Amino acid sequence: MPPTLFTADQIAALLKALPDPAFLLTRSGLYSAIFGGADIRYYHESSYLIGKTLTEVLVPAKAEWFLGEIHKALATRSLHVVEYGLTGSDVKGMENEGPLQAIWFEGRIQALDFQVDGEDAVLWVASNITGRHQLEQQLRLQSESDELSGLFNRRKLMATLGEQHSVFKRYGTPTALLIFDIDHFKNINDQYGHPFGDKAIRAAADVCRDELRATDFPARLGGDEFVVLMPHTGRTQAEPIAERLRLRIAEALLRLGALDGGATISGGLSEFLPGDANAEEVLKRADEALYRAKRGGRNRILSV
Ligand code: GH3
Ligand code: MG
Repeated sequence: MPPTLFTADQIAALLKALPDPAFLLTRSGLYSAIFGGADIRYYHESSYLIGKTLTEVLVPAKAEWFLGEIHKALATRSLHVVEYGLTGSDVKGMENEGPLQAIWFEGRIQALDFQVDGEDAVLWVASNITGRHQLEQQLRLQSESDELSGLFNRRKLMATLGEQHSVFKRYGTPTALLIFDIDHFKNINDQYGHPFGDKAIRAAADVCRDELRATDFPARLGGDEFVVLMPHTGRTQAEPIAERLRLRIAEALLRLGALDGGATISGGLSEFLPGDANAEEVLKRADEALYRAKRGGRNRILSV
């Protein structure tokens, strides 16, 4: 059977029926034409964009980004795939429409081999991937955090430790690491029950969240053991921070009430050293200091 031939009207109708919108954008950022976008669950009416330029429609930073991606697609002439979010404040005329949730898109940008309105042009197909993006973020967050305490987990800590060690090796950025552990935690579990032990772990985590800077990185290694990575902070600078944590956690554990005489923590503090063969060396050093703090009578931080 010969292939079906369509009339121009039918082709126009077919393009219009495409669920995802396809923007014909020129090198200078002019919306020359728009096809599709028929899926009203995901897309607003966008025909008003035709004849407008990116800079007329988007805030400068976003418009510049779009232009950059168009130029990349034109330079490579192969399919260029990008992911991006758009909020109400990115779109001109919608800046004051409140904190509109970001809509996430996958853009598939293909250079065309003919000119449009006297310019090179691309076909930019935008697919709404907000649902997938949110799920990805949620999964990433789950895979990086400790369920009980809400702090980062061991996996995320080890990855970040490696990244920070690379920064240290390249730029010499001082980075301290504190490891601490609740004293006689087994007794707390035994005397007051496992759920109360969990409460104590969460209380210690809350203190970390309250007391530390946004750039600090508190993680729960497991059990009653925590690590705080402090980028841009040398060991001597970190000593008063570690001391404050020790006192505040003891206060928080006392406030939990049930504990007779409260509970304390012991810790080991160290920092990246130029001779360290790998990122784990600092953890080992701090852990040895923690061990000695325990043997030395607990309720203390040893800095090495
Ligand atoms: P030390 O002063 O030497 O640290 O003594 P400790 O009793 O605290 O000894 P250790 O740190 O080895 O004990 C950790 C205990 O933490 C052992 C384990 O039963 C308990 N544990 C581990 N994970 C959890 C948890 O998720 N919840 C609770 N409640 N307890 C946990
Ligand atoms: Mg312990």
